[in-house]
Amino acid sequence: MTSSEASTDGAMIWDRVIGQPAVVAELQQAAAAAVGSDPAHAMTHAWLITGPPGSGRTTAAVAFAASLLCSRQGCGACRECKSVLSSDHPDVEMVRSTTLSLGKDRTKQLVSQAAGAPVSGSWRIFIVEDADRMTEAAANTLLKSIEEPTGQMVWVLCAPSPEDLLPTIRSRTRHIALRVPSAESVAELLTTEEVDPAMAAFAAHAAQGHIGRARALAQDEEVRNRRAEVLRLPRQLAAITDAYEAAADLKRNAEASAKRRSQELDEKENAELLEVYGSGAEGVSTAKVRSLAKRALSDLAKRQAQRASRSVRDELDRNFLDLLGFYRDVLMTQSGANTEPINLDLAAAVEQIAQRGEISETMMRIEALTVARAQLSSNVPPQLVCEALMVQLLHPVRPLAGH
Ligand SMILES: [Zn+2]
Repeated sequence: MTSSEASTDGAMIWDRVIGQPAVVAELQQAAAAAVGSDPAHAMTHAWLITGPPGSGRTTAAVAFAASLLCSRQGCGACRECKSVLSSDHPDVEMVRSTTLSLGKDRTKQLVSQAAGAPVSGSWRIFIVEDADRMTEAAANTLLKSIEEPTGQMVWVLCAPSPEDLLPTIRSRTRHIALRVPSAESVAELLTTEEVDPAMAAFAAHAAQGHIGRARALAQDEEVRNRRAEVLRLPRQLAAITDAYEAAADLKRNAEASAKRRSQELDEKENAELLEVYGSGAEGVSTAKVRSLAKRALSDLAKRQAQRASRSVRDELDRNFLDLLGFYRDVLMTQSGANTEPINLDLAAAVEQIAQRGEISETMMRIEALTVARAQLSSNVPPQLVCEALMVQLLHPVRPLAGH
């Protein structure tokens, strides 16, 4: 979720961090200590916030930044808080990676920025949203800055788990672990955003603790329809041709949704770039601007293509997570476990699939989905990942020993 989505007027900044009372207490305490008599000594300069996607890592990091810069430690209403929340505070740098990796050059740039004094507040805060995407060279560049911090810099690294970072970095950070927020706390949040309670419960369960996903499911019919389509797959796969069709369908849909999301942004970036090269200025021809901007345009196109590729993978990962939730419900039904289902709306479908197969097959399908998710994040072409997965869901086979 982006920091500007929720309304914050008058609310304490920490209300935005859902279902994490221990984390909130620890960060609040650190922020309070940081305004003590000798802040440079009271403050930890490198933090590591871990938790599964959607658990609110960025939200916690942003709340922490606001509480460090606000004179009331995160009132949510003052100028400092508001500018941190809308990502335009000069002393808070949000480092987002739109590609699969965060490289050395960008990190070098950040490190030199971090060495400077704060513009307006008492801290200069760098929030690295996907620290797990740092290349080894980038991590080593960052390490030097963390080892010898200047008095006012604060690095907040966010990653799924501590193991996603080099041990050298990990050991120099103070670790804050978020847990998966409960469906109840996510549903409660949605009802404060005027979502009907039944819809909130459905979306919170279906999203499996992912706050942004729950919000999208609750608010966007298209997102709900797409989820329903994906979760029909287990009942539709009957022959091998179905598996290949389903794979093509998954990929096509992921590409279409990535395109919807990126088109507007791409066009805006292109227009801004051309403006820098004189587009719209008097006496400058479009051809002249295009020729001057040629190199920059091609660099930009490359970055946009990388972003689109990541966006397709992210969308497919959401589909796979939905399927994982479905087969988890099937497994619970087959084993007679008395647990609350993830998919409150699909009891009949879950029952049907549970009747049709063996527990061991369900477990192999779950394993296949886990493998597919790992392949997606390690650059295997999405088409291959989808095809292998759909064939496995149709005819699960035990993986070879050693794999
Ligand atoms: Zn404030």
